[in-house]
Formats: sequence, structure tokens, C-alpha cells
Amino acid sequence: MRQDPLAYLATELDNLRRQGLYRSLRILEGKQEATSRFDGKQVVNLSSNNYLGLATHPRLIDAMVKATLEFGAGSGAVRTIAGTMTIHMELERRLAAFKRTEAVVVFQSGFTANAGTVSALLNKDDVIISDELNHASIIDGCRLSKAPIKVFPHKDMDAARKILKDLPAGQRKLLITDGVFSMDGDLGPLPALCDLADEFGCIMMVDDAHASGVFGKNGRGTVDHFNMHGRVDVQVGTLSKALGSLGGYVAGTKTFIEFLYHRARPFLFSTSHPPGVAAACIAAVDILENEPGIIDTLWENTRFFKKGLADLGFNTGISESPITPVIAGEGALAMKLSDRLFQEGVFASGIAFPTVARDKARVRTIVTAAHTRQELQYALDVFKKVGQELGLI
Ligand SMILES: *Cc1c(COP(=O)(O)O)cnc(C)c1O
Repeated sequence: MRQDPLAYLATELDNLRRQGLYRSLRILEGKQEATSRFDGKQVVNLSSNNYLGLATHPRLIDAMVKATLEFGAGSGAVRTIAGTMTIHMELERRLAAFKRTEAVVVFQSGFTANAGTVSALLNKDDVIISDELNHASIIDGCRLSKAPIKVFPHKDMDAARKILKDLPAGQRKLLITDGVFSMDGDLGPLPALCDLADEFGCIMMVDDAHASGVFGKNGRGTVDHFNMHGRVDVQVGTLSKALGSLGGYVAGTKTFIEFLYHRARPFLFSTSHPPGVAAACIAAVDILENEPGIIDTLWENTRFFKKGLADLGFNTGISESPITPVIAGEGALAMKLSDRLFQEGVFASGIAFPTVARDKARVRTIVTAAHTRQELQYALDVFKKVGQELGLI
């Protein structure tokens, strides 16, 4: 009989089980809302990236349904063959106006936007200077480019400068950071990075996945938040988090975006969004432009919840965003915290090594504009009970 050549995977999974790091997927039995039903249990949902509640917003749903009825369920091809629809171009125009850049290209996801852009921009003769906590999709893009990657310790500008100083002046360099770091919720030091990019002639790139719709005027992102307009060459954003639907985009000059139309591999070799997705994203941009009050609500909820956790005595790290980690330490303890919270009616995912450092395992909380004070207070009460039980506070 044939031996299963994948048998070693069972051993890998057993190792995870022994370390208390094995996870089964929680199944959402309805809409992605502030309180939702997961695995048969009604819980306050602190796990989604649906910052503004747009994933269930009637205007996005309506736009998606209308576009689907009018244009169909799928686009039928990759963009360069036959899959570029009027609505894809309209979304890119709207995003470019929103971001105040010359042009935008939309990808299937934020992941493909990062991976496709970095790998298209650079080759093996170039060099990438990257924060150690940058997102996996940036890292994959760097690897695909074959350019050597020089990693600097998190937000350590002296270390970044030292790397840059030792590089040949003529070599093409990409300096790259997350706008908001997704595990700690802190901001990339964009002004200092832009200064370095100017001084050493780097291409400056920021991945604003968690900043899109959250930071800057009308949610334009960290470039707007820090007033770095014109100083960041490559701005990546996502349409999958605060904007409530699916997709990633890259904003920059017309020349740069046209180049990506010709060279970004996910653009060239993977089918474009269904028209309904593009329509929902346009509706989301409409809401950001015309109803920025929901962003204010997000921040009011963020301040309330952060203060609540801090007052209880939890270690919430260095967050500056609606992402608030509750740091437990060991991986198994973070998973236990997450499990106990869930049993008590609060869903906050446990996150352990290798996603975060071994001794900094945590549950990550994200509040949204859709949470009521009552829901947030309920969550704080549960955190208090479980935190005391596990000796965290
Ligand atoms: C979520 C995330 C992405 C990927 O975005 P998707 O649209 O979900 O593919 C990229 N970068 C960062 C920093 C993220 O947090």
C-alpha cells in the first residue's frame, strides 16, 4: 500500500496540540456584527477588522446587490484580458481622488497588493529595508522580488539609518513600514522614515491596511494623519477591513500605477473582483467622504475601551489605534484567556508565536463603531472576572 507522503503533517499538528497552540476555526453563524453568534454562542465580538461596521451596512449591501443584478456575479477574466469593467475603473478613480494621489490600482486583496507591488518594483540587485514587525504579505513580496532584505528592529530609526549608511549610494532602495502594526496597534514612525527616505534616496512605502478608514481625515490613512502628503511613493491600503468588503489598493503616481498594470503578477494572472465587490467598495468610499462621524464613534469607543482595560490593570502594550492587545505572556496562557473569555461571552482571538514574540502572547481586541457602550462594558466586566481568575490583574 502507498505510504502517505503527508504523514509528517500529523506530527506537526500534534506538536501544536502539545504546546496548547492548536486552534480550530470559530464558525460565524450569521453576520459579522458587534455581537454575533460563533460556534453556537452569542458573544461580544472583539475579533473583526470591521472597524466601522461597514461589512453589514445597508448601503454597501444594496450597492453590491444592484451591481450584481446589473453586471453579474463574476468579472470573467483577469484585468488585462477581459476582466476590466467600468465599475473597476470607477473604483480606482474614486480611490485616487480620496487618497489625493494621481492614480490607484485595485488588487484582489491587501495581501496581493503588497506581495505584487514589492515584487514588481525590485529585483535581486536592489535592497529592501524593512521593520521587523512588517506584515507577512510585505515579507512575501520582498522574498518574491529576490532583493536582499535588511531588517531593522521595530521602529528603531538609528538602526535603519545605520543600515542605509552602509549601502552603496547608487543602489535602489525600498524603505518599508506598516502604517499601523497589526499585533500591537502602534503606528509606524512615518515622519522619521520619510526623512530617512529623502536623505538616502529610498522609495518610501507604507502599508496602511489597519489605517485605511481609521486614521487621517475621513480615514485617508497615516500619510494624511502625519501630513506626509507627497513624501510616500507607495501607499497600500485595504478594502477588506474598515471599508467592509474585499480588496487591496496601491496609490501613487500615474507612471507607477501604469507600471503595475504591466508588471504586478496578481494583477496580470488572477481574476478581478466581481462587480458587486467593486460597487460595495465605492459605497464605502462614499460613506467615508460624506459621513466621517462614524470614524469619530470608532475613536470614542476606542478611548472608552482602552481606558477600561488599563484601569483594570491589564498590560495593553503600546497601542495607538483601535487594536488593543491584552498581553498574557506565554502562548498557552493567552489561549486559555481567549477560551475563558469566549465561555463568558466575549470573542477575542488568542495570538501566539510565531505571529508575536514567544513571551508576548496575547489576546487581541478590536472595537468597532458598531459596538454599544453596553456591549463594551459587558466585555470589560468579563475581562475583569477572567483576568482575576488567571492572575493577570
Ligand atoms: C490585513 C493586512 C493585510 C492584508 O489585507 P487583506 O485585504 O486582508 O488581504 C496587509 N497588511 C497588513 C498590515 C494587514 O494587517
